[in-house]
Amino acid sequence: FALERLGVHDSVDAVFPPSELADFFADLPAPVDVIGDDEIEGYDAVVTLDYHEALLECAWIHSIQAGVDRFPFDDLEANDVILTNSTGIHDRTIGETVAGYLLSFSRRLHTFVAAQQDRRWDRPEWDEAFTLPGTTACVVGTGTLGRGVAETLGALGVCMTGVRRSGEAVPGFEEVYANTHLLEAISDADFVIATVPLTDDTEGLFDAATFDAMREDAYFVNVARGAVVDEPALIDALESDSIAGAALDVFEEEPLPEASLLWDLEDVIVTPHCGAFTRDYFRDVGGIVRENVQRLEAGEAFHNRVV
Ligand code: NAD
Repeated sequence: FALERLGVHDSVDAVFPPSELADFFADLPAPVDVIGDDEIEGYDAVVTLDYHEALLECAWIHSIQAGVDRFPFDDLEANDVILTNSTGIHDRTIGETVAGYLLSFSRRLHTFVAAQQDRRWDRPEWDEAFTLPGTTACVVGTGTLGRGVAETLGALGVCMTGVRRSGEAVPGFEEVYANTHLLEAISDADFVIATVPLTDDTEGLFDAATFDAMREDAYFVNVARGAVVDEPALIDALESDSIAGAALDVFEEEPLPEASLLWDLEDVIVTPHCGAFTRDYFRDVGGIVRENVQRLEAGEAFHNRVV
């Protein structure tokens, strides 16, 4: 197809102002507009956060997220719609977010922030605080997120291990296990970090058996998608002290319902699915789209094509 009009769907507003991205595209060969659901018709290509049925009329959808589990792949394919995603840009942001979680747990920062709200001068027990060198983190899913986490934590002295389907070595990881050895891989780790996409294979991957296999003093981190975790099993594990704590950016239901037990559990850090936020987000996404516009003109295959 030839790109005649590019739309920036207003749902991206949850992550950055749509107009910033539209301005970034000012030099593209096609006109670019910020559009709502009713205006999708007539645009060949749309950059979006949300899925909407009207997008089935487009030739190309670009997701501003890496995770595209919300898009109906079969319908897109049946309607000859190309879907590209934003994998590849979240290595440093998520890496630093996860480093922040680990530093909070090791230096107890989250407990001080909570105490400060009540003007309480509360020191940790003598044996609560620790340092990161000498600890091990096992990253499940060694893609962009996993590698970014390994690079950031590796620089803090954390020994990195990984889990991937093939079990083949990955730079930045001391040891890599195949999925079939997941429980063995996590059994020794101080931190278990989920960075897999949500697929039929990974739904509920982190379940009661996983939390049982983890050390009692280990922390669980989820920056992937809520549904890769059996949330009730995680809550059980936290309540029964069979793991030490968790840092969670993503949840089965978002926003996390006010009634969720996760808000109040000790040593649980809740962040509102913003682990990859940065003021440069629109530029990072825009870079992928711009490259694909150039590839389209040159008749080359799209980068980050999913469907
Ligand atoms: P990616 O494609 O670069 O990496 C995903 C990796 O997971 C790949 O190496 C893939 O081979 C591996 N994988 C797939 N299925 C697997 C399985 N069953 N077992 C083990 N490994 C498996 O994607 P990414 O950019 O690293 O993003 C990964 C996921 O993280 C996204 O799909 C998204 O859901 C989530 N994400 C969340 C945030 C956030 O804000 N918290 C930001 C970016 C991405």
